[in-house]
Amino acid sequence: MLVARPKAYTKTFYIPGLLIGMKTTLQHLILNLLHIRKIPTIQYPFQKRERSPRFKGLHILTKKLDGSIRCTSCMLCQTACPAQCIKITASENEDPKVEKFPISFQIDLLRCVMCGYCEEACPVDAIRMGQEYEWANFAESNYILDKEFLSNRPSLKGGVISKLPT
Ligand code: SF4
Ligand code: SF4
Repeated sequence: MLVARPKAYTKTFYIPGLLIGMKTTLQHLILNLLHIRKIPTIQYPFQKRERSPRFKGLHILTKKLDGSIRCTSCMLCQTACPAQCIKITASENEDPKVEKFPISFQIDLLRCVMCGYCEEACPVDAIRMGQEYEWANFAESNYILDKEFLSNRPSLKGGVISKLPT
C-alpha cells in the first residue's frame, strides 16, 4: 500500500520542520508545567529506568566454578557475528578434557550492532549480553573489549558463572 506523502516543498526547507519540532516541544513543556498532562520524566543519571531481562547490553564472558573462562574457543560466535567484530585467538588447554581456550578474546564495540547472535550461537553459555549500556568513552581504542574486561570488570563483582559451570 502506498503511503500518502506530504508535498515536497515542506521538505525542501528545514525551517518548517524546525518550527514544527519547537511547537511540539513547547506544547509538551506547557502541558507538563500546568500539570494538564503528566508526562513521565526520569531524572537521568540519578534515576535509571529498569530494563527488560531481554535487553542486550554490554557483553559478558562467563566463568566456570573454578573461576576460569567458560569459552572453549569453538568460534561459533565469531562465525555468527554479522558485524565481524569478534576476534578470538585459541590455544590448547592443559586440561585433557577441554580441547581449547581463548588466550585472547576481543570485541570491537564500535562495530557491534548488539544483535545478540553471539549469545544465541554459543553452545555453552560462555557469552551473554548483559544489562549495562553506559559505555561512553573518549578514545576509540577503549572500545576494543578484551577478555579481562569481558569477564572481570568491576561491575561484574567477581564474574558471572555459566549455566554449564564445569
Ligand atoms: S551482538 Fe551481534 S554484532 Fe555484537 S558481537 Fe554479538 S553477534 Fe556480533
Ligand atoms: S563464546 Fe561460546 S560460541 Fe564463542 S568461541 Fe566461546 S564457546 Fe564458542
